[in-house]
Amino acid sequence: MKYQDHKKRSAELLRLVIPKMSQHDAPFDPISYAVWYEYCAGHNKGLTDALDDLLNQHEILSAEQIENLFRRHIYDCDIDAMRLLQERMRQVVRDVIGNTSQTTQHASGFSAVLKSHTSQLDAHISPEALKGIVNAVLDETQQMSMAIDSLQHRLHSNAQEIEQLRMELRRVREESMRDALTGLVNRGGFDKSLDEAMRDSDHHQTPLVLALIDIDFFKKINDTHGHILGDRVIRHIAGIIRQQVRETDTAARYGGEEFALLLPHTALPEAEALAQKIRSVVEHTRLKRLDNHAEIGRITLSAGLALYQNGETARDLLQHADEALYQSKRTGRNKVTVYQ
Ligand code: GH3
Ligand code: MG
Ligand code: MG
Repeated sequence: MKYQDHKKRSAELLRLVIPKMSQHDAPFDPISYAVWYEYCAGHNKGLTDALDDLLNQHEILSAEQIENLFRRHIYDCDIDAMRLLQERMRQVVRDVIGNTSQTTQHASGFSAVLKSHTSQLDAHISPEALKGIVNAVLDETQQMSMAIDSLQHRLHSNAQEIEQLRMELRRVREESMRDALTGLVNRGGFDKSLDEAMRDSDHHQTPLVLALIDIDFFKKINDTHGHILGDRVIRHIAGIIRQQVRETDTAARYGGEEFALLLPHTALPEAEALAQKIRSVVEHTRLKRLDNHAEIGRITLSAGLALYQNGETARDLLQHADEALYQSKRTGRNKVTVYQ
């Protein structure tokens, strides 16, 4: 989540958000606040569309519906997995503290015993007494050594547990960059890759192309065949895109039925050819409904491409690709347009 609204704007949003929160069933908690904040701010299109869809169907939204919107459109990370990881980490830290402080107590007891024995080591001590002290010190030292061994052993297994948590955290973080429906990178992951690719292009002076791809008349597909089939179409197109791009490209689901491609080290004609290939493969695909095997009509895509100009912002680049995409839509769809 990245919020860039300045204070005055966020205060305006606050005034809009509170009444919305009051109208619905969810408690006044940060989750509900985040959902309505993003909705009122209007820069999370996926969330806005989904929320509008829900509001068309229900007058009052439940806490569960709000939390689902949050999970799906704001915080892609698996909240439960994160809670579990945090709890396990807390447990491990408690263990380490417990183990260490036990041994520390043992060590300070050990040092006190040694001191008291040392004070008895004056010149007039009998051989018998010296033998007793030697035995006692040996005994204490062995016990201390065992306690340290055991601490070492327990700390080793704590370290293993921490390493395992680290790996699971990495998996959860990687998952949080993926879109659950298509397995492509999600918008958050894409924005990160875009920043990196722009820096790389500046540094090495290599061309970088951004392509935005949008399914044509997708609303109609949903309306005619239902949302479940709509989802299948999105997944299917994601599969075609994945097949066509190179390992070094980034293919993302950028919004509901919109994809974004990041093509580093790629000149415009090459990028345009790739976008045309994807457009053409999709156009010639025939999908069937699973229930009655009826063929779904032709599905087409429109695309907009823009070449990154060194020094421009991500917002500029996205806007240029979006303008080109709009041009494709405006001039008949099923087209690829390059921003000039
Ligand atoms: P255009 O050719 O201008 O792009 O028309 P369109 O109908 O594709 O465009 P519009 O943006 O008006 O509609 C997109 C629709 O996509 C609206 C929304 O209900 C639907 N949608 C968004 N996300 C999903 C999703 O995850 N699954 C399904 N099934 N539909 C989605
Ligand atoms: Mg769209
Ligand atoms: Mg569309």
